[in-house]
Amino acid sequence: NRRIVLAERPKGAPNADTLRQETAPVPEAGAGEILLRTVWLSLDPYMRGRMSDAKSYAEPVVIDGVMTGQVVAQVVTSDVDGFAPGDHVLAGSGWQDWAVSDGTQVVNLGKDPAHPSWHLGILGMPGFTAHAGLLNIGEPKAGETVVVAAATGPVGATVGQIARIKGCRAVGVAGGPEKCAHAVDVLGFDACIDHKAEDFEAQLKDACPDGIDVYFENVGGRVLFGVLPLLNPFARVPVCGMVAWYNLTGLPEGPDRSPQILSTVLRQKVKMQGFIIFDTFGATEHAAFVKDMTGWLEDGSVHYREQVVEGLEAAPEAFGDLLEGRNFGKMVVKVG
Ligand code: NDP
Repeated sequence: NRRIVLAERPKGAPNADTLRQETAPVPEAGAGEILLRTVWLSLDPYMRGRMSDAKSYAEPVVIDGVMTGQVVAQVVTSDVDGFAPGDHVLAGSGWQDWAVSDGTQVVNLGKDPAHPSWHLGILGMPGFTAHAGLLNIGEPKAGETVVVAAATGPVGATVGQIARIKGCRAVGVAGGPEKCAHAVDVLGFDACIDHKAEDFEAQLKDACPDGIDVYFENVGGRVLFGVLPLLNPFARVPVCGMVAWYNLTGLPEGPDRSPQILSTVLRQKVKMQGFIIFDTFGATEHAAFVKDMTGWLEDGSVHYREQVVEGLEAAPEAFGDLLEGRNFGKMVVKVG
């Protein structure tokens, strides 16, 4: 049983000393338990938060503890009703080959789901995040302009495509020309701007001739400050993530920007609301998501791109890449 544990809490970006691979005996499932073999491991930006013991909405991973994470696994043995050997399940077993569970919070995906790994992305947590955050907090109306960064990742790509479905102008922000071309040509964004371009702010303004009505906040940093002057009266800002700042060790250098942020919120009567997908929305929103997304994938109105990383041992480096934008699409690790 290979497993990856948190060796030390990173200061700044995670490095080679942050995580450690170990080998442990394969666990044995007892009465009332199922034995799971991991097939796919999801890598997500929130995992950076679990490495830290700063105040958060969730407990940190303990030092020498297995890194947390969602997986798609196969049931090997089962003594729990509703689970049979061979079933694919969605579970929170973390970065390891094997795990034992009593079935709590394990979702059975059936013997042969069409795309097992999609349940970690477009049909899972990131897809739900995009759908629930955009529709319930962003409240996009036809003809409005919606801006989202990390536009080729699982959350941003989904936000942009839903915005298009709702009749909005969708403007993406992504790192580099290849990702921007994908956002426009494959995902159907009306425009996509490279946040690494020297004249990013001017390009963003040109791409939003009627201003911005919904800014789905995924990244913070330069993108946020380019967006602020373009926000229209009564704009909505679902605050989903700030990946540009996850590796900060203190407040960034430079001028204090809080007056700029709050005066924009006040003057433009902006509604800004944070949300955590694990507890902000419930069964009603989840059912609406599943219904919509299943239909959109079937009729081809939503596209989905994955980046597959081969082998559990490659996960630590791949996770560092994810935080720095060296992924292209939803990052999943093929474990077994
Ligand atoms: P992605 O797969 O899109 O990966 C993160 C992306 O962020 C990178 O690929 C990179 O894309 C972009 N990025 C990194 N640094 C910067 C930067 N300095 N400026 C601009 N962009 C940057 O991630 P997800 O789709 O899984 O998640 C997107 C966001 O949503 C994250 O902030 C995540 O934490 C958040 N989230 C929040 C949830 C909640 O409940 N609130 C639930 C799920 C996700 P590029 O190369 O294009 O810049």
